[in-house]
Amino acid sequence: MPVRSGSPSCQVARCKRGRGLLAIMSDRPRSAAASLTASRVTKSYAGQAALRDVSVDVQPGDCLALVGESGSGKTTLLRCFNRMVEPEAGRIQIDGNDVSTVDAVKLRRGIGYVPQDGGLIPHWTVQRNVELGLRLNEAKDMADGARAALDLVGLDPARFADRWPRDLSGGQRQRVAIARALAPRPSLLLLDEPFGALDAITRGDLQEVFGRLRREIAATCVLVTHDLQEAVRLADVIAVLRAGRVEQIDSVERVVAAPASEYVARLLDRAGVRSLQPTGR
Ligand code: ADP
Ligand code: MG
Repeated sequence: MPVRSGSPSCQVARCKRGRGLLAIMSDRPRSAAASLTASRVTKSYAGQAALRDVSVDVQPGDCLALVGESGSGKTTLLRCFNRMVEPEAGRIQIDGNDVSTVDAVKLRRGIGYVPQDGGLIPHWTVQRNVELGLRLNEAKDMADGARAALDLVGLDPARFADRWPRDLSGGQRQRVAIARALAPRPSLLLLDEPFGALDAITRGDLQEVFGRLRREIAATCVLVTHDLQEAVRLADVIAVLRAGRVEQIDSVERVVAAPASEYVARLLDRAGVRSLQPTGR
C-alpha cells in the first residue's frame, strides 16, 4: 500500500508555511539527536515478567519501531526510556548517561512523549496543551513555539489554537499530541501507537506527516506499533517483541529479507510485508 499524499498544491502550501515557521522554531536552542541503549532490561508486574533481558541500541537520528502483539511489552519498554517505568534489572542510557542517575522530571523535559491515548488535557485549549512542554522548559516564546509546532503537524494555528480537545477529530487530536511532544525540540521522541486508533485514510495521512517531520526535526525516535507495515514504512530499525523478549532487532531491510525466526516470518507474512518496499525513508 503506497503512502498517501495530499494534492500537489496543498503540499506546496503546507511546505511554504511550514518552512517559515520552522525558521522560528530553529531559533530555539535544539539538542542534537540522542543515542539510546537498553541493556538487559527486566521488569515484572506481580511476579509476571513484562520484559525479560531486553537489549536494544538506537543510533542518533534513527527511528526504532517496537513491534509485537498486544501484551508483548512494547509500552513497558518505551516507558523505561523516560523513567515512567523503573526496570528491576538492566540499564537504560541516553547519550551514554544512565537515566536512573538523572532526575526524572529533568529527564522528561528533554524527551517528547506521545502516550497511547494522546494524553491531551481535556479542559485546556489546544494552544495551552501544546505549550505544556515549552512551559516546563521555561521557554520565553511559548505562544510562537506552540503555533509553529501546530503548523508543522499540518494544523492551522488560526483555526485550531483556541479549540478544545473534545472539538477535534481523532486525527486532529493525535496531531496536537505530536505537536505538543515536538514543540520543545526534543532530542528523543517516544511515540506509543500514535496512529493506532485512526481510520486507514487518517492513519496514512499522519504517517506521511510523521515521515516528513522525522527528517525535519532530526530527533531519535522510538515508535511503538502493532502494525508491521507501519514499521517498515517509517522506521530504520525494527525490534520484534514477543512475550517480553526481543525476538529480532535489525534494520528494516534485514528483518524483511532475513526474519530471525518462524515467528517473525509469520508476522511478516500475516502483514503482507514481503511485497512492500520500505518508503518514507
Ligand atoms: P504492549 O504495550 O505490548 O501491549 P505492555 O507493555 O502494556 O504491552 O504490557 C506487557 C505486560 O505487562 C502485559 O502482560 C500487561 O498486562 C502487563 N502490565 C503492563 N503494565 C502493567 C501494570 N501497570 N500493572 C500490571 N501489569 C502490567
Ligand atoms: Mg501498549
